[in-house]
This record gives sequence, structure tokens and C-alpha cells, in this order.
Amino acid sequence: MDNMILEEGKDMLFWKLNGDGEFFLSSIWQKLRRHPKVKSWAHIPWHVKTILRHNFIMWLLFLRRLCTRDKLAEWGIVESNECSFCAEAETTDHLFFKCDFSSCVVEAQVL
Ligand SMILES: [Zn+2]
Repeated sequence: MDNMILEEGKDMLFWKLNGDGEFFLSSIWQKLRRHPKVKSWAHIPWHVKTILRHNFIMWLLFLRRLCTRDKLAEWGIVESNECSFCAEAETTDHLFFKCDFSSCVVEAQVL
């Protein structure tokens, strides 16, 4: 308390999180929320000249949030996690990269 210099005049409140000293709840929210780094692939699903539904599915795929049967079975929504096209467990990797039936469909679409 010895180094504190008290000045004459009226005391004022100054909110440091906001540049102009005014209090806003949004400044608390901005301080508390996490600011995740932008993923290097973030621009890929949102290409302008593609179908929006496809963009959304690709975005979910990249985030590993697609509701594949392994997740649905884990949540108790379906009983079996078997792939609809073969007998293996339906995961994101299986459905898009390992399932023989899916691969045939993709090849047929590309060729
Ligand atoms: Zn399969």
C-alpha cells in the first residue's frame, strides 16, 4: 500500500477485457471460450462449386462425426454395427475406404 498513489476525484470502474472500458458479457465469453486452431483441411469441404449436402457430409467425415452404425450401436439406437453391404463393422474408415461394395460404387461413379 506504500507505493499506491491516490488521486483526488471520483472513483471509476474500468472493464479491462473490453478496449473502451465498458462491461459487456460478450467480452467475458470471448475471454473464456477456446479458440481452436483452424484445421489445414478446413477449406476443402466448403468448395463453392459443389453440392452443399455433399460438402456437409464431407465436413462431418473429416470431423469423424458421421453417424455410422458403430456409433449408432454404441448409443443403443441400432442393435448391430454390421455394415449394410457386408458383414464387417461399419466405421467411417470402413464405409469410405475399406468396404468392397462402397469401393465398387465409387469406382462406377468415377469411371
Ligand atoms: Zn462394408
